[in-house]
Amino acid sequence: MFKENLLAGRRILVTGGGTGLGKSMAARFLQLGAEVHICGRRKIVCDETATELMDLHGGRVTSHGVDIRNALAVEEMIENIFREAPLTDLINNAAGNFISRTEELSPRGFDAVANIVMHGTFYVTHAVGKRWIALKQPGNVVSITTTWVRNGSPYVVPSAMSKSAIHAMTMSLATEWGRYGIRLNTIAPGEIPTEGMSKRIKPGDEAGARTKAMNPMGRVGTMEELQNVAVFLISGGCDWISGETIAMDGAQALAMGGNFYQLRDWSDDDWKTARESIMAQNEKDRAKRG
Ligand code: NAP
Repeated sequence: MFKENLLAGRRILVTGGGTGLGKSMAARFLQLGAEVHICGRRKIVCDETATELMDLHGGRVTSHGVDIRNALAVEEMIENIFREAPLTDLINNAAGNFISRTEELSPRGFDAVANIVMHGTFYVTHAVGKRWIALKQPGNVVSITTTWVRNGSPYVVPSAMSKSAIHAMTMSLATEWGRYGIRLNTIAPGEIPTEGMSKRIKPGDEAGARTKAMNPMGRVGTMEELQNVAVFLISGGCDWISGETIAMDGAQALAMGGNFYQLRDWSDDDWKTARESIMAQNEKDRAKRG
């Protein structure tokens, strides 16, 4: 779909690029000639991904063990990257989320999502954007949100609130920073099964059977489709698009709301099973944080 070396000379940071959708976008950018940086709390996972992607595609992937909730650590990472050479593009992909009845959330549970998605995304965007402005250099920010930024979602309220904040940031900075040649857009995918998200927001339905049954196109999304939208947005061929959200969900949000409203039918036992599955996944991930 894209010509070889389309992204040669580009330097792209993908937050949360060690796994899932971030890893797949990082792979495609690398394949198209970009130099790629990835970050995540689990440095070991990012290191493994960097090695795997370079073995597959050649080029250079640099791994950073950075928690984007920590503004100082973000500043340090971005400063180190820019000292070598400025980034050209930022993909805000890192996030946390889990399903819960909202009345059962603790403040800590709320913060766990909001601190990553809202605060962390701002810290990274701010650290990169202010350097682009100082250097008089244009840049692209693409953030991965969800279709619920348009209609909210029950049972993932901290995520719905925080992703809506990214949506607001995108529209706000597209207008404030447009004069510097900085573009911001978001992609709002429907379900694309990944271990990290599916285990926490679709426990028991990790392959997306419920989505397939409800989706107008009868399927979940693919990594390739997401890679292609991301490349399209940063390709340089459509630079007047800014402040926009591209939903990619087979029209599910239009048809069915695209959110978690259907969980209103869950019993106490269903919620207990979901909670146990989420906690098991959290334990598994934490063990690799070091
Ligand atoms: P994932 O594999 O769990 O990816 C999330 C990534 O974010 C992980 O690599 C994680 O690495 C990183 N991360 C989390 N907290 C972080 C922090 N504090 N600092 C740095 N990195 C952090 O899930 P995914 O499905 O690929 O999700 C990727 C993005 O797509 C998310 O923004 C998600 O909301 C969005 N999305 C996904 C779907 C879907 O169906 N998969 C649908 C709509 C939107 P560490 O744990 O090592 O930090």
